Amino acid sequence: MTQDFLQTAEAARPRRVHLIGVAGSGMSGIASLLLDLGFTVSGSDRSTTIETERLQAAGLEFFCPHTAESIADAGVIVYSSAVKPGRNVAFDAALAAGIPVFRRAEALAALLSRKQGIVVAGMHGKTTTSAMAAHVLRQAGLHPSHYVGAEIPLLGCNAHWDHDGTHFVAEGDESDGTLVLYHPQHTILLNVEEEHLDHYRDIHEINAVYGQLLDQTAAATFYCAADPGAQAVAAARPRTIGYGWETSDDYAARDLETTGQSTAFTVLHHATPLGRLTLNIPGRHNVLNALAVAALATELGVPFERIAAALASFRGARRRFEVKRRTPAATVVDDYGHHPTEIAATLQTARQFAQGRVICVFQPHRYSRTHLLRREFGQAFSQADAVFVLDIYPAGELPLPGISGETIVDAIQAHEGPRLKVFSTPDRATVHLALGNFLKPGDLILTLGAGNVHEVGTRLAADLQTAEELEKALAEPGTTVSLYEPMGRHTTLKLGGPAQFWLQPSTFDGLARVIHHCREHGLPFRVIGRGSNLLVRDGGLKGAVIHPDGGDFDAIEVCGDTIRAGVAVKFKRLAAAARTAGLAGFEWMEGIPGSVGGGLRMNAGAMGTETFDQLLSVTLLDGQGRWVQRTPAELERRYRSLPELADHIAASAVFQGRPAPLEEIDATMAASLEKRRRSQPIAASAGCIFKNPPSIPAGRLLDDLGLKNLRVGAARVSEVHGNFIVNDGGATASDVLELIRLIRACAQTERGLALETEVQIVGEDLLF
Ligand code: FAD
Repeated sequence: MTQDFLQTAEAARPRRVHLIGVAGSGMSGIASLLLDLGFTVSGSDRSTTIETERLQAAGLEFFCPHTAESIADAGVIVYSSAVKPGRNVAFDAALAAGIPVFRRAEALAALLSRKQGIVVAGMHGKTTTSAMAAHVLRQAGLHPSHYVGAEIPLLGCNAHWDHDGTHFVAEGDESDGTLVLYHPQHTILLNVEEEHLDHYRDIHEINAVYGQLLDQTAAATFYCAADPGAQAVAAARPRTIGYGWETSDDYAARDLETTGQSTAFTVLHHATPLGRLTLNIPGRHNVLNALAVAALATELGVPFERIAAALASFRGARRRFEVKRRTPAATVVDDYGHHPTEIAATLQTARQFAQGRVICVFQPHRYSRTHLLRREFGQAFSQADAVFVLDIYPAGELPLPGISGETIVDAIQAHEGPRLKVFSTPDRATVHLALGNFLKPGDLILTLGAGNVHEVGTRLAADLQTAEELEKALAEPGTTVSLYEPMGRHTTLKLGGPAQFWLQPSTFDGLARVIHHCREHGLPFRVIGRGSNLLVRDGGLKGAVIHPDGGDFDAIEVCGDTIRAGVAVKFKRLAAAARTAGLAGFEWMEGIPGSVGGGLRMNAGAMGTETFDQLLSVTLLDGQGRWVQRTPAELERRYRSLPELADHIAASAVFQGRPAPLEEIDATMAASLEKRRRSQPIAASAGCIFKNPPSIPAGRLLDDLGLKNLRVGAARVSEVHGNFIVNDGGATASDVLELIRLIRACAQTERGLALETEVQIVGEDLLF
């Protein structure tokens, strides 16, 4: 039976072997082995991956997506367990054409039978252990072939056929009972417990499959005596060797010493010390995995010193407690764990590794597992401080009614009560935003799951790196860069998506360094003031959002009839300083909620005066990062705009006033305030939305058109002033934009007027 696949493939030469579902980690490994063996190999899948690209470079003919034509002249087919009759055109066409078809495990069994097979089996830790075994045997000069379930940087790829060696280390998949196809020389049995209950009736059926594998193992099985499940299957069988924590085990690990990610331990063989091993991947479970490999290698005659040297250099599989970033500010780790036992073990390791809180992002894998193990999942997260639960990664399964990420949230809450913070965050594409806002210095973020949750950690690690670089460039002790700051906190409209990197420099030099850094690294940036003229789209602002604040930017200095003010100085404060100094001309600024920076850029104005009218000079950071001064004669002035500031950043400005009696200043100010009180709403807004067309003020136009109180969602045209859109609470930028669209369409149709927006509309439609 096990020879059938290779015999069939040999007989079919020169026709090709075609793999349906070749992009998956298991199937791509088979493709690699077949290419190494000199077969002509093709494959099809729904999408292209790094694996398919690598295989194409090695000679794979790749078809995307699956089509009936892709198998037309194939001699033999191998198909993945996700492929089901009636649901895959390539598979159905192969059956109809009478091309012999083989399951992945049948192909692997045939390949394994050509060498002295070493099958690594069990519920958890197979990939790490099989990678470790292949690495140790390779370092010992035994030229093993290998087939493991993930990319292993140290081994070069996930599968390789070595023509010079006799051993073949293979990770055995227990999920569908195909373990019984293997007749290896050696087996490593790591652990056994209830899992894959969509396939197995109960633990007895699981035990029977492992039992049969052990009975078919020719030389010896190494089983974990510390695992009751493995013990129950193996202990009473012949040709078994136990490893664990006890001196009475055939091989034992003792005197563990942990430093950071490393653990050193002594290996005993029948209670006699063989020597000390140092393992540079974290976790007690990995000590047991290394012990299994040390036992196997010892039985194969590898000297202990070579085992020790090889294990010390082992660097782990991708997605197995993979540390993506480690700094005092934040650590990001990714792990493939998706079964409750794996989750608990990984969280235990994370807890030891973390400096601060352990924040877990969990993506449940498969509806069936979520449904069947919901109670166990509820108990698995005790070591976490907070859990963000995504929606289920289906892995080819159809949804089950009532089963979702919420199932896990409910189970954890039922078990942990209020002690543990659990958040339902179904959307993988946006969970990093919630996460970024939640972080505190020293947190460890652990992404967990067998699907694509690792992308969350990759993105977060990259953004944390950029944030750290920005902080370094800013070099203002105590000033941190926040990730994904909601712009609703920084705009008077109280809405808008997040700022990717939010920072508040307080010195001119710090601002210059940050801008220089952004320009050098091609990082987009934007300087904002008090957000009183901004409509930030719901997708937020990509890149650095710089808000000068305090320090140099808040300085205000009166000298005769001139006032120098930093760009963070509020207009209201500037008006007050002028009043105290007995200078008239600034009264109109009193009721404008902006700051000097935004006021200059927008050439803000009221009561017939504009910012430009009082400007004596402005200090700018130009496009080349140089400090320059501009006088009004050197600047272009427009209605509600100083275009020069679109590219240059203002740091401070000098304004001129006119000495006047206090009573005169107070009277003008009071008149201005009274006008505002009567004509402007107090609700959240961004001031006037539209520029006034030459023929009519925009507010009056909207009033005439009967648009007051027109509403989209919680955004509404103010009943007090037609040119103000107010946020009644919970409005989105999309609501406001839609309202703007409706108003413009109406003005165009009814009056032939093309309204231009005064409010600055910035940011992305879709979240970054
Ligand atoms: P922001 O809204 O933060 O930014 C505005 C623009 O300036 C953005 O493009 C930003 O990138 C740019 N910018 C900010 N700082 C700098 C800098 N240092 N260098 C270069 N560019 C920079 N406006 C009027 O003109 N007259 C009014 O009477 C008036 N009344 C208002 C009433 C209310 C209730 C509200 C909410 C707004 C009103 N506005 C008015 C609009 C707004 O207050 C002004 O445009 C204000 O000057 C904007 O300043 P800001 O600091 O909030 O700028």
